[in-house]
Amino acid sequence: MAFSFYNTLGRSKQSFSPLQEKKVGFYGCGPTVYNYAHIGNIRAYVHHDILVRSLRRAGYDVNHVMNITDVGHLSDDSDAGEDKMVKTAEERGKSVLEIADYYTKAFFNDTDKMNITRPTIVCKATDHIKEMISLIERIEKNGFTYLTGGNLYFDISKFPSYGDLALLKLEDLQKSEQTEFARIDQDENKRNAGDFVLWFTKSKFENQALVWDSPWGKGYPGWHIECSAMSIKYLGEQFDIHCGGIDHIPIHHTNEIAQSEAATGITPWVKYWLHNEFLVLDKGKMSKSKGGFLTLQSLIDEGFDPLDYRYFLLSGHYRRQLQFSFESLQGAKNSRKSLVEKVRGLLEKTSRGGAEAQRAQGEDKGEESGKELNISSYIEGFDKAIEDDLNTPRALAELWGLLKDVQGCNHSTTAKALEAIYDMDSVLGLGLKETVNNKNTGTEENEELKQEIEELIKKRIEAKKAKDFSAADNIRQNLKDRGIILEDGVNGTTWRFEQP
Ligand code: AMP
Ligand code: ZN
Repeated sequence: MAFSFYNTLGRSKQSFSPLQEKKVGFYGCGPTVYNYAHIGNIRAYVHHDILVRSLRRAGYDVNHVMNITDVGHLSDDSDAGEDKMVKTAEERGKSVLEIADYYTKAFFNDTDKMNITRPTIVCKATDHIKEMISLIERIEKNGFTYLTGGNLYFDISKFPSYGDLALLKLEDLQKSEQTEFARIDQDENKRNAGDFVLWFTKSKFENQALVWDSPWGKGYPGWHIECSAMSIKYLGEQFDIHCGGIDHIPIHHTNEIAQSEAATGITPWVKYWLHNEFLVLDKGKMSKSKGGFLTLQSLIDEGFDPLDYRYFLLSGHYRRQLQFSFESLQGAKNSRKSLVEKVRGLLEKTSRGGAEAQRAQGEDKGEESGKELNISSYIEGFDKAIEDDLNTPRALAELWGLLKDVQGCNHSTTAKALEAIYDMDSVLGLGLKETVNNKNTGTEENEELKQEIEELIKKRIEAKKAKDFSAADNIRQNLKDRGIILEDGVNGTTWRFEQP
């Protein structure tokens, strides 16, 4: 397959050619684990997943690395505000690591439900402080830093191509009043408004929970350095693809490039930068830190299967803004249901048709009834759509076209079509093979399970009221054995799936 991707670096669609034949090094920015992922974040990870699945299906050996941010991400991406992890830990009366652990598990619970393939390597920022310090030392040695007010800063004026990714002008970034930095508290220590912190010491927060010794004093890293340090560790000093949402273009990814290239001197650090557009609500943007966001669980609570949401996301191209509404999600649910029914119809026909064809051959009639179809042309259409900057809406249309045209075809064509559909689904990730082999679309199953758990929670409350604690414990233990955890809180008992 000949992929072409829209590269933010250069703002053009470019044919994809990896640094090493048939191998792809891919880094996707992962979650900051101070809250659940919202459905907008999940859009970003579905995009990474479509990319990885497409490349693997085309025969590439993809090394997919994703970070977990558990330190250093402030409420504003450019060093202003509070530390997101510390703030949540204080609010909840927990340690930062407890918060990180809980939301990391919740994150993978969501991505598993969305049928998102797990990255090859998942790396936590707090496990890579040593690598961050050595990378900062290289940046410092090469003359790109200054130490003031207790923090070590990256001096963007020393890096002439700073801002190339985001098409920002270095001169503008040096003056705070002309940039987006003007809207946030300016750090008096910065020489240029766009400078950013590589290492904080006590000067920023007195109450920072996690601190490490460093050549610049006891402190903790800035947010951006973790992605440079971990991607270089696992993928080398130059690699193929880097992804994230469009919000990362002007600050986070711009800073990642500056740090990495300043340390290694190799340009370009990353060959292809792919950015997904935002998922927006009717009411506007969704934000993890400002609340008011929808989680995957909130869609499940409304009776949707996570794969309905996946179908909804695939129906929009990743570079187009997508507006979320429950009406559109209902539309996706209906389409997925009909897709599953049609594919199941093909499966039933092939099992029936197989027996009929065998009988026909036994009776020496020789020929099967029904028309034939050139299935490979549909696969080609699908491949073209995916090769063309991962055009999932067009790919879905190819799949539907095949489903429509295969009606009334003979057994062998139907069997080939079914195989082709499963093959297409190895990219789309709608779990079609598993779903059609089950009795339902998954939604009904979720509903039944939910009702069963809620019944058991009621029984457990009754058992406790009746002081039958062993019965109550048995209910909890039986559910735990099935991977379902009950949690008693001030607002009653809630449940969640056990984390992997
Ligand atoms: P965060 O956990 O905030 O660092 O975000 C995780 C990923 O989600 C990043 O790649 C963000 O760019 C991306 N992202 C954040 N909000 C949205 C949104 N509303 N729609 C799509 N992607 C988003
Ligand atoms: Zn990153």
